[in-house]
Amino acid sequence: MIFSTIYSDNMDIQKILSSPAFSCECGKIHKAQLKEAIIENGAIQKLPEIIKKYKGTKVFLVADENTMKAAGNSCIEILNQNNIPYKTSILDAERAEPDEHLIGKLAFDFSPDCDIILGIGTGVINDLCKILANITDRTFILVATAPSMDGFASSTSSIIKNGLKVSINSRCADCLFADVDILKNAPYDMIIAGFGDMLAKYISICEWRIGNIVTGEYYCEYVANMMRTALKAIIENADGLKNRDDKAIISLMNGLILAGIAADYAGVSRPASGVEHYYSHIWDMRHLEFNTPWSLHGIQCGVGTCLALKEYEKIKDITPNKNLALASFEKYDIAKTKKIISEHLGKSGNEIIEKLETSDLFNREKHKELLKNIPTHWDKILEIINEELPCRNELILLMNKLKAPTKSSYFGIPDSENHQTFLITKYIRDKYILSTLYKELGLSDF
Ligand SMILES: [Zn+2]
Ligand SMILES: [Zn+2]
Repeated sequence: MIFSTIYSDNMDIQKILSSPAFSCECGKIHKAQLKEAIIENGAIQKLPEIIKKYKGTKVFLVADENTMKAAGNSCIEILNQNNIPYKTSILDAERAEPDEHLIGKLAFDFSPDCDIILGIGTGVINDLCKILANITDRTFILVATAPSMDGFASSTSSIIKNGLKVSINSRCADCLFADVDILKNAPYDMIIAGFGDMLAKYISICEWRIGNIVTGEYYCEYVANMMRTALKAIIENADGLKNRDDKAIISLMNGLILAGIAADYAGVSRPASGVEHYYSHIWDMRHLEFNTPWSLHGIQCGVGTCLALKEYEKIKDITPNKNLALASFEKYDIAKTKKIISEHLGKSGNEIIEKLETSDLFNREKHKELLKNIPTHWDKILEIINEELPCRNELILLMNKLKAPTKSSYFGIPDSENHQTFLITKYIRDKYILSTLYKELGLSDF
């Protein structure tokens, strides 16, 4: 079984984008920030039409050397043919993460008579343009150059500030061009990264449901179904990714866009990220701090998914033991935890360490309260795991076929470090994930 056992009918992305805000059974009003997505072969030919629609008179085009080759030059040709004036800001392609310097460069290059920001790229370019569009209050059009991550429809940007990775509020593109002819020619590792960022959704939905029953946190079944349905289409077409088939690329891109919309709808990152993303965060933090190896976000998330599935297999075999859990809790020592985090994450762990004293993870009363419910919830937790998670071996077979990394040692991180990394994930965000459950059950020693 490689699919979740529950899904709804196909999610039509155009219908979702054009539908007015609707009041959902979850109690929230859902409305996508992304206004339109043009997902087709040759989509960029519609650039002049869209610029006109947004009453644009001058374009500020942001790209890097690679994305200029992938799509920027074609876009400039189209602008020239249609007599649309533009100014460009071309970034050096040799940087992995957006930081304050790049934001400064863009602000410096920006000219106030430009009323359209045209980003050509994905991760970094998208994150930067989202911030620039937010600061300058300009219309933002993105021409995606790779189906490599799920930030197309989300309203936050990931940047490096003072050497630390942070997520800041920005805004998503008004219009997204997903030109299939461009996307399918993306470097293969970027396509596989997008696939990995989507595999993560198996775990994120599973953990969201577990979090919901254990802590009573907000959950939306409609949003969860968006993710399951997108994943199903991606897996069904995954074989075609190797040959860059249009159908496989479109399913992947649809899923990545839907993941951003899902997070936007929910107002929390739950639908799009769980413990697998925190492996990735930790590898990023360690790379910044200690220059350890790293890989593309989605490749790390794909590996994180395989690692998380292995940890979930262990949990399926245990029977919760309240006495063991209580005894283990008595042994938890904040000082020891601080030391482990500090050694593993360096100064990027400081903020986490500061919050430990007041963290629920060390709150004896809260722990007892949660433990009380675990035995009653246990059957439900197992049911959720069985419903949502794919068979690890089948998934790994599929990933092998696609030459998608399934182990951290593929990009240079020893596999032996991963259980320790897993145990640290619970401290990364205030979110109930598998490693939190491990701690509550007494299966972690810090
Ligand atoms: Zn809802
Ligand atoms: Zn992600």
